[in-house]
Amino acid sequence: DPTILWFRRDLRLSDHAALSAAVARGGPVIALFIRDAQVDALGAAPKFRLEMGLAALAQRLEAAGNRLILRSGPAREVLEEVIEETGAGAVHWQRLYDPEAIERDSRVKAALKKRGTEAHSFAGHLLFEPWQVATQKGDFYKVYSPFWRAVKGRDLPETQAAPSEIPAPRAWPDSETLSDWGLSAAMNRGAEVVAQHVSAGEEAAQQALALFARDRIGDYADQRNFPGVAATSDLSQYLSLGEISPLSCWQAGQRAMAAGKDGAETFLKELVWREFAYHLMYHSPAMLDENWREGWQDFGWNEDPDTPDVLAWKQGRTGVEIVDAAMRELYVTGRMHNRARMVAASYLTKHLLCHWRIGQAWFEECLVDWDPASNAMGWQWVAGSGPDAAPYFRIFNPDTQATRFDRNGSYRSRWLAEGQGDPGPEALAFYDAIPRAWNLSPGDAPARPSLTLAEGRERALAAYGEMKDAA
Ligand code: FAD
Repeated sequence: DPTILWFRRDLRLSDHAALSAAVARGGPVIALFIRDAQVDALGAAPKFRLEMGLAALAQRLEAAGNRLILRSGPAREVLEEVIEETGAGAVHWQRLYDPEAIERDSRVKAALKKRGTEAHSFAGHLLFEPWQVATQKGDFYKVYSPFWRAVKGRDLPETQAAPSEIPAPRAWPDSETLSDWGLSAAMNRGAEVVAQHVSAGEEAAQQALALFARDRIGDYADQRNFPGVAATSDLSQYLSLGEISPLSCWQAGQRAMAAGKDGAETFLKELVWREFAYHLMYHSPAMLDENWREGWQDFGWNEDPDTPDVLAWKQGRTGVEIVDAAMRELYVTGRMHNRARMVAASYLTKHLLCHWRIGQAWFEECLVDWDPASNAMGWQWVAGSGPDAAPYFRIFNPDTQATRFDRNGSYRSRWLAEGQGDPGPEALAFYDAIPRAWNLSPGDAPARPSLTLAEGRERALAAYGEMKDAA
């Protein structure tokens, strides 16, 4: 009987334990993606990126003699319908770790078991299952460094090759189409601009990894903090949708380390930051929308997402060039350099004294590499409310950050048009990407900050002091 392979955030054929097991089970494989409430709740850019990823997966499946079936509705109902239609005897999937997915999947598993259908979930979105890493006391880790030390020497399996053929069923179940779904319609702005900066699918992911391992990993430790330099792997968007397995990235890093490449260990550490984010989210899911640290609920943040300061931040019009460049990179490419994420997030939560949830939600709307765990951890880390966070009072000075990490100004001038005689293509692309209602043009005068850096810093420290006093 057929096995249903329920694809979710694992849009690949290689190193896919649930797929390999489905093929090994014998019988045809029905590759299914379900547009359920979790998909509908995604932000505009993640949805748009998902459409690209699904199109790429469908092509890969066709090359392997199979097909991607698309259905919408609540996951349990859709699975039961497809089981009825095809006589499938088993459903396989790879585990996710956010609370909504966990709840959905356990309900699905119970319902399938009840009706006598095999239900198997597999690891693959992470290197280390969150429950397989624990402190000596049996608790979860709340600090990164000991987490890293606990996992770095662990033996991990080899990656598994993609099956060369994925047996097709005798008759195909009905499928909806990606164009009917219109997942990219949510980008009611210049999706085609962003598309020029985004590649999707397993092949693109493998190419990105190969390029990084060949040309960039050696200098990664030295160069990764400069937003104007293409020094990082750019793997996050593929990892987010599982177009490449973290294990493939890990093994490439290990090979580079064995070959004596300097930056390789730093790269492995970054992959483990992703693991740490998942470890935290799994053990402490409130991290997704509540301050992780005690006492922070009374912090004097602005929580209104519609203030002029928030709009200026979203538009890259705060008047602080490094922040504005970062926000425009986000809008045009769907990504933002990690250093720039830290600076832009710090400016919002400290100088502008806005709640980190406002920034988290905007990133969720705009990032093609959006990841629930890394985004929440990143925001809480910067804001000071999170586990192992930067102390609140250590406030990044954006000017100092710009001088240190964008010394020659190439990042700022690449993304900002205002005040430049001859702005480059990326700076201009911003105006094709934004909604008309923003009414911005490259000839606008450069933005002026609503307060000086010193004023913002003092206000932030005063708010922090008040919270401390109240505690
Ligand atoms: P590389 O430097 O090449 O790193 C390799 C991989 O390691 C990345 O692809 C990523 O999977 C992982 N990684 C690196 N840094 C981090 C980190 N700080 N936290 C977790 N994983 C990391 N990353 C996301 O994938 N999705 C998000 O939604 C996201 N939101 C963020 C929000 C804020 C406020 C901050 C400060 C960081 C956020 N990050 C997020 C982490 C980081 O900025 C990106 O993973 C990184 O910039 C992606 O570029 P890269 O693939 O070239 O990274």
